[in-house]
Amino acid sequence: ARFYRELPKVELHAHLNGSVSFVTMEKLINRKPHLNIEKSMTAIGKGQRRTLDECFEVFKVIHKLVNTEEDILMVATDVIREFAADGVKYLELRSTPREEKDTRLTKQSYIETVIRAIQQCKNEGLDIDVRFLVAIDRRNGTEVAMETVKLAEEFMLSSGGQVVGIDLSGDPKVGHGKYLLPALEKAKNCGLKLSLHLSEVPSQLEETDLLLNLPPDRIGHGTFLHPEMGGTQHLVDKVVKNRIPLELCLTSNVKGQTVQNYSQHHFRYWYQLGHPCVICTDDKGVFCTDLSQEYQLAAATFNLSHEAVWKLSQQAVDCIFAEEALKEQLKEKWTKLQPQVL
Ligand code: IMP
Repeated sequence: ARFYRELPKVELHAHLNGSVSFVTMEKLINRKPHLNIEKSMTAIGKGQRRTLDECFEVFKVIHKLVNTEEDILMVATDVIREFAADGVKYLELRSTPREEKDTRLTKQSYIETVIRAIQQCKNEGLDIDVRFLVAIDRRNGTEVAMETVKLAEEFMLSSGGQVVGIDLSGDPKVGHGKYLLPALEKAKNCGLKLSLHLSEVPSQLEETDLLLNLPPDRIGHGTFLHPEMGGTQHLVDKVVKNRIPLELCLTSNVKGQTVQNYSQHHFRYWYQLGHPCVICTDDKGVFCTDLSQEYQLAAATFNLSHEAVWKLSQQAVDCIFAEEALKEQLKEKWTKLQPQVL
């Protein structure tokens, strides 16, 4: 277990409100006792499983607990510190900006607060670089998506490089990518990188085909892309041709029941192809995991040597959305740490 903790890691798929730890959750619950929320409602423990629908109910509960600037600041700084303590050297956080009339939270101040948290952690001297992806919830359709991209563009230009891209997420059974295409094209044209949840459930093949034409810079999950899972060779070819990295979240997919068990996870398929795969947590709070544990799980399930695991974490550096200079710095960091860790 020590090897996995000491392994320098890159986390590219982490939803802010899904990443809230038990300790932080307790602080939030104490702040809002009138909501009568219990900890068991905000996380899915060991051996437990929920349907994907039930997972999305969990997010609704968490959103009630996180609805002021103060909450967001605490949640974001705690999450960044926890990733740093787990040996994550580079983190891309993603979150859906929310407006909350009761607390006068705006989408603007939501993003500002996350950026403030990133800045605070930098000032603390933590050994982690953090970037932010502004998330579009697919449920909300064309106009909101367009508005989100505009906000992200403004912040990309004004935040000093902290906002680097757009995430498309939310309940995959709701909405359709075709309505979001113009916003995603606009994002791409103004220099925002795109990480899209694609084929997280079956029956999204047409949407996936359409969105792959952009093409996105990374894919979240992609569980049902390949023929063995009901996808098509045509889709696989598109992903391979553009060498679009996949963000793969083992525990999340098994606990959310889109994948039957660890050994059937699509990591196997893509890894065997030699395609870029990045191990991620998705929602470390909700699914009670951390990135070290996810690497260890992948190694145990797919029989990976320490050398292979090292390579996996090193190759993730190539998939980050931050500027080239930081990529080079991280590569040096990995080279320096290799003799100590491996
Ligand atoms: P937030 O964006 O920081 O509020 O994080 C929670 C949100 O992330 C949820 O409401 C979903 O929109 C999104 N999310 C988290 N996990 C998943 C997933 O596995 N699939 C799709 N969307 C997700």
